Amino acid sequence: MIQDEGLASRAAVLEEIAAEVRQCTLCDLHRGRTHAVPGEGPPDARVMFIGEGPGREEDEQGRPFVGPAGRYLNALLQRAGLVREEVFITNIVKCRPPGNREPTPTEVEACRSYLDGQIACLRPHIICLLGRPATATLLDPSATMGKIHGSPISKDGFTYIPMYHPAAALHNQRLAPVLTEDFTRLGLLLRRLLAEE
Ligand code: SF4
Repeated sequence: MIQDEGLASRAAVLEEIAAEVRQCTLCDLHRGRTHAVPGEGPPDARVMFIGEGPGREEDEQGRPFVGPAGRYLNALLQRAGLVREEVFITNIVKCRPPGNREPTPTEVEACRSYLDGQIACLRPHIICLLGRPATATLLDPSATMGKIHGSPISKDGFTYIPMYHPAAALHNQRLAPVLTEDFTRLGLLLRRLLAEE
């Protein structure tokens, strides 16, 4: 019962954040959006995925990772023994940058409190950073994906795993086996953490 109350309260906090995001005008990205994309997933998600920003289909639907990269992400999740419904998926900015450009530091900073709020609420076992902008924002601005992808890194009480963005592997097929291997390792790490609980 107490656990259920804790989950209900976490779900309420996540919904509060989502409601704020949908009304947000803190940066200029709100001007071009059709829908803000707060992110989605259960309040007891053990794994969180953080990408760069919504694309065209995400902007149209108000949901994260629903385009081609999202379908690829769903397939990769199976490699980790996960299904989409049990993970939380969001981005460092919640509104689509024009032409899918990289978000500016000002936009990332303006949006940061929503992401921090989601992380603090979920306290996931593992946070997967999809792509360089998410990795630079949460881990290391000078990080090189080729060097740090796939390896767990502890920081501020959280375990992060930087990974290539699924969209990058759609454009560069050589990254596909790398992503597959990193998701397989993610599954192994998660099972180990759960066994230690
Ligand atoms: S990107 Fe973030 S800070 Fe900018 S308007 Fe959207 S929700 Fe607000």
